[in-house]
Amino acid sequence: MKICVPFAANKHLRRLTKVIKMKLNSPPIPIFLVCVSISMSMQAQPNHWQQRIQYTMNVKVDVEKNILNGTQHITYYNNSPDTLKQLFIHLYWNAFKPNSMMDVRSRTLGEIILGNDKKGNPLRDWDARVKDRIAHLKTNEIGFQKIVSLKVNGQSAKMIEHETIVEVILSNPIVPKSRVNIETAFEAQVPIQIRRSGRDNAEGIRYSMSQWYPKICEYDEEGWHPTFYVAREFYGVWGDYDVTININKNYLIAATGYLQNPTQVGFGYENKGQKIAKPAGNNLTWHFIAPHVHDFVWAADTAYKHVVQELQNGPTLHFIYKKVDSLEPKWNYLIEGIVQAYPFISKTFGSYPYKQYTFIQGGDGGMEYPMATLIKSPSLGTAVHEWMHSWYQMMLGTNEALYPWMDEGFAEYATDRVMAFLDKDTGFAYQSNYDNYYHLVQAKLEEPMTTPSDHYNTNIAYSIASYSKGAIFLEQLGYIVGATVRDNILLEYYKQWRFKHPNPNDFVRIAEKLSGLQLQWYKQYWVNTTKTIDYAIDSLWQENKTTHIRIKNIGKMPMPIDVVVSYKDGSKELHYIPLNLMLGNKPTENTAIARKIYPEWQWTHPTYTIQSNHTLTDIVGVEIDPSLRMADVDRKNNKLALKW
Ligand SMILES: [Zn+2]
Repeated sequence: MKICVPFAANKHLRRLTKVIKMKLNSPPIPIFLVCVSISMSMQAQPNHWQQRIQYTMNVKVDVEKNILNGTQHITYYNNSPDTLKQLFIHLYWNAFKPNSMMDVRSRTLGEIILGNDKKGNPLRDWDARVKDRIAHLKTNEIGFQKIVSLKVNGQSAKMIEHETIVEVILSNPIVPKSRVNIETAFEAQVPIQIRRSGRDNAEGIRYSMSQWYPKICEYDEEGWHPTFYVAREFYGVWGDYDVTININKNYLIAATGYLQNPTQVGFGYENKGQKIAKPAGNNLTWHFIAPHVHDFVWAADTAYKHVVQELQNGPTLHFIYKKVDSLEPKWNYLIEGIVQAYPFISKTFGSYPYKQYTFIQGGDGGMEYPMATLIKSPSLGTAVHEWMHSWYQMMLGTNEALYPWMDEGFAEYATDRVMAFLDKDTGFAYQSNYDNYYHLVQAKLEEPMTTPSDHYNTNIAYSIASYSKGAIFLEQLGYIVGATVRDNILLEYYKQWRFKHPNPNDFVRIAEKLSGLQLQWYKQYWVNTTKTIDYAIDSLWQENKTTHIRIKNIGKMPMPIDVVVSYKDGSKELHYIPLNLMLGNKPTENTAIARKIYPEWQWTHPTYTIQSNHTLTDIVGVEIDPSLRMADVDRKNNKLALKW
């Protein structure tokens, strides 16, 4: 994503880039002291429990050999009602070895040819960043993570390694409402950056350090989530991180947490005028804490520039990137866009509760982490998307392995909305996501959104379902319940479920409570199936002075219907047919147009007839859902223009 044009043109280019990316089947580039009361937001789910963790980690980086040596002191709180006889730990970097699951899966999907590019070359269904690159890594380029020792409450525990997951057999089970201390020592080799984490990425950033430590898997009401690292990744235990990194003194570190010793390291972290007293020696030690997060990322380079930007009524923003003169205008444009966007973001999606957020150059596209993102090159669209993941993943911590549409789709929806705000575009902001979805349906590659993210048959089906169909879930919800109600649902969802792990039902329950409408049918059709929507104008006829307009449901997914009828004199009427499954009506969305509300359409009935008290020849147009929010796969039969 390269953007160097002003706001107005920027959006179009961003969209175009997105569509092209989809067609190339590379997943789109993606995106406390917490000052909020957590206890307040617990009220809605009195029986809700979740595990908690505290990591204290010390790590030393050998920048010659690209080896990390670290120790962890972990306090793990079992808040569940269950006795745990085992633990599972992620060792993500073991994916970056020839013949790993990630390697083989990427190459296998690469054998699926989805068409040809403009030059006639085959379009393969693999991630353009991964391809077959892992298979060609040399011994000093692969990644690995090894737990050298592990003790639980002072006792050694048996470990069984399954590539990227380690199973720990506990000699003493962890009983409900208790905690254990876990001590580990680990060693890791930083891989050449293939995907997300690694060293020496395409833009020459030395270290992009995500998924760099042994990370305890999440345990929730669905049990353990020992998800192998194949492509997608995010789910973690909420907790507090205390991280100390010792590295060559020439490196600037950008990280998730709040730096605790700015006057010992400098690099622009110190307050203006503060004196820096660096300890003697070749290395520097950086100390960060990150309270109430579910992961910790950091990056390091010897040529980073550090820009600090205060946001009014918001966090301190850090932009850490390699200075290239020709790119400075793009970075400045990105910074300006982020600053302009925050008041809108905070009003629409809820305020950002941490005191800091850092945009770090170091990505292979864009990848979200708590309080920070790794992005490749200065693209405002990518930066906004990744920042919106602070809402849809870093606060509303859905399980990406199971419900990727709830973080990617919701972040994508928010991105479209924020970019439209920045572009001052009052048109329909989501068309490219709708188009991606229609494209997938036509290609007959669609799978239900209940598919676990790594288990889709193709990358393109995963990408479009998670990003585009997930974004449509929210925009189309606005069509069903009304846009203002949908906006209130988003804020209430944020209020009730931030710092927790919501699932699809948790969201739908909030939507039902705020709209007063039944909405399980919407989840069941849109999320659980690949049934599509297709309504059509069937016929018009006049009896006496009344015109009858018959609407037909050709598709397999029922919906409430807005029909706008236009008359010769320029006036319009909105005819609203609620769906019986909703057991209610959406409120008036637009007071500028008269609305006639009909009795409910029973979903079993294929047709429904509405009436206009104008003669047939008075009518010049009939259109089902002119707002374009209903994802009708064939819009040609939605619209009728009449000439008399
Ligand atoms: Zn994303």
